[in-house]
Amino acid sequence: MNGNFFLGNGQFEMREMRFDEPKDNQVLIRNMAAGICGTDVHIMHGEKGSADVTPPVVLGHEYAGEVIAVGKNVTTCRVGDHVTVDPNIYCGKCGYCRIGKKQLCEHLVAIGVNYNGGFAQYSMVPDSQVFRLSDDLPWEVGAMTEPLACCLRGIRRARITPGDLAVIVGGGTIGLMMMQLALLSGASRVIISEPSETRRKLAMQLGAFAALNPADGPLDGQIAGITNRRGADVVIECAGNVRATQSAFEAADHGANIVLFSVPQTDAVYPLKLFDVYSKEWNISGSFINPDTHLEAADLLSAGRIQILPLITHRYPLAQLRDAIEKQTMPDSVKVMVLPQE
Ligand SMILES: [Zn+2]
Ligand SMILES: [Zn+2]
Repeated sequence: MNGNFFLGNGQFEMREMRFDEPKDNQVLIRNMAAGICGTDVHIMHGEKGSADVTPPVVLGHEYAGEVIAVGKNVTTCRVGDHVTVDPNIYCGKCGYCRIGKKQLCEHLVAIGVNYNGGFAQYSMVPDSQVFRLSDDLPWEVGAMTEPLACCLRGIRRARITPGDLAVIVGGGTIGLMMMQLALLSGASRVIISEPSETRRKLAMQLGAFAALNPADGPLDGQIAGITNRRGADVVIECAGNVRATQSAFEAADHGANIVLFSVPQTDAVYPLKLFDVYSKEWNISGSFINPDTHLEAADLLSAGRIQILPLITHRYPLAQLRDAIEKQTMPDSVKVMVLPQE
């Protein structure tokens, strides 16, 4: 049983892992697929994730596997179940937890950040974090439950109503899942803004009304050129750079809901015209992790309502984790998976 441990300073090392019998409420999982997240890239470069990383630790917070053994009092799964893991563990005791805002928990810890996660052959997790998947779901699709759960949080913040015109800025994994959720939520049309031609083509395959290149000019003009609108009712920014933030505000019609969903650099700054917020009555929201959305994300995937396989462009064996994380940052990849049993 091996795990590819993160040692800090961009270093990884394959190490042997031993697991005892699961204790009360513990579940032993054979990890079958684990996705590389932008957070893993940040952590490898010494930046902060949603929680502070504590090496040596097995990263990987987006994963799926098979239940191998369960401890006493486990109620969420049985041996043989195909499952995915909600990595975020909330304290339940701080002020935020006690007013229904657990995502802002002051003592948030996460599997794959503070506790050993998906980039290992096996993992031991509390049964509160385990969610069942349908048996015929490909492992790689199951591994996408966690990012989809984050997108569900974002889509709720976007408050789409049937008929809305939606613009998604950024056509990576998150943008393309967000686009599908916007359509499921009732958007009449979803327009993607994305500089990469490969990703624009993928967006069109997955149901975009149009895929615009932000280099072709400000989005308001481009949107007016292909619709009877001067902007969108809902804009969701999923790219993580200030240029994309600019595009998001260009794309917003008066009265729009704008969700700044991506993880920006910690010191990124955008000069927002305050008079626009006032006179256009913009609703601007952030969205942080995935409180209470994991079950529904797992159900959406199990029911085949979100197309995931076209997003997965690269697969790596466990020993090549570092290469996998690097590939995730390259423009020819959309989603990179690690297959821990290979
Ligand atoms: Zn993630
Ligand atoms: Zn808390």
